[in-house]
Amino acid sequence: MALAHVTTLECTLCGAEYDPEQVIYTCPEHDGVEGILEVKYDYDVVHDRFDADLDGNIDTQWKYEAFLPVDDEADPVTLNEGGTDLFDAPRLSDALGVETLVKDDGRNPTGCFKDRASSVAVTKARHAGRDVICCASTGNAAASLSGYAARGGLDCRIFVPGDAPEGKLAQPLIYGADVLAVEGTYDEAYDLSVEVTEEFGWYNRNAAINPFQVEGKRTVGHELAEQSVVRGEVPDWVVFSMGDGCTIAGAWKGFREFYELGYVDDHPKMLGVQADGATAIHDAFHGHEDADDVAETLADSIAVGRPRNTVKACRALEESDGTSVVVPDEAILDAMKLLGSNEGIFAEPAAATPVAGVREALSRDIVDEDDTVVVCSTGFGLKDTEGAKRATGGVTRIEPDIAEVTDRYST
Ligand SMILES: *Cc1c(COP(=O)(O)O)cnc(C)c1O
Ligand SMILES: [Zn+2]
Repeated sequence: MALAHVTTLECTLCGAEYDPEQVIYTCPEHDGVEGILEVKYDYDVVHDRFDADLDGNIDTQWKYEAFLPVDDEADPVTLNEGGTDLFDAPRLSDALGVETLVKDDGRNPTGCFKDRASSVAVTKARHAGRDVICCASTGNAAASLSGYAARGGLDCRIFVPGDAPEGKLAQPLIYGADVLAVEGTYDEAYDLSVEVTEEFGWYNRNAAINPFQVEGKRTVGHELAEQSVVRGEVPDWVVFSMGDGCTIAGAWKGFREFYELGYVDDHPKMLGVQADGATAIHDAFHGHEDADDVAETLADSIAVGRPRNTVKACRALEESDGTSVVVPDEAILDAMKLLGSNEGIFAEPAAATPVAGVREALSRDIVDEDDTVVVCSTGFGLKDTEGAKRATGGVTRIEPDIAEVTDRYST
């Protein structure tokens, strides 16, 4: 059987099971799109299929193909995503006061870790004979999906909030997608995309509701586990920012799989970080009464008022014995500068948010100064130069006159 390693799609709310060969997005037993499904595997089969060495040589995420829910016969649509570096970060560690490593997923083909998921989604859509794929996105998922749709020869239609950063709108345009900028929030763009897939039967790759979509994100967890084996040390904490919550859930699922299969002998605690203007997952995890679903933060990629994957994200925090914190926008801007100026890694606001989260967690004795921490930088900063300007205040303007320079540098 072509999908022999995939057993069922299981509802995260009621446990109902569905056939993985059918196209189904969410469990029909619940309102709207609340019944998020989870892909379940037969790990004996997966383990038998997986014959790569955990030697740290990771050309692309397809090293872990045995774990991906794609048909044996399917031809991967790939731009060589994954296999990103895990950097030591000595100066950043000094500045934060804890040993910190950076998993730089901003250096994926479209500048974002979402390429891991897009590659899997487009591979599956093309194999299923679909020719139109669509999604709603705060920006990066759209840019990523458009790139992979182009690579796989599919038409792509995307719904983004009208105020997405220019760079993230430029990418899908060049990749040839139809970019529908919705005059409204991400949450509204999202609802519209679900409506149109029902109406027109396009393949919907919205991360939160397409159960297969998030499965590609597990490879960042597989890589972190493999890189831990090579380093001879499993980090105490792995830190991600959270928007819809799929990313941290996927990363945890991947690491957990390698741990449960005995490929790595320990697991990290997951620390999820949200902006203090968009705290829905944090509130759910800590049992806070969450009143509203506003999302106000300059970190556009995590400006999500109604996260679609709260259940999976909270489960990741719980199972790993981790937790969540929130940080203000000013701390996110500081974190961008800290990461860039200390280590040469240019992260967009949502991608620098984990660094701000480490500071917050240290100050609240969640993270100990003897711990080892991995922050995952999820997206490249050049997509959002406005954020960078706000973080730094911009350039120093001078006249073309040597006196201006001597004034500045002579003591
Ligand atoms: C999408 C995104 C996130 C958040 O991922 P979720 O799965 O929505 O939690 C974080 N950082 C960047 C750069 C993103 O594009
Ligand atoms: Zn259900």
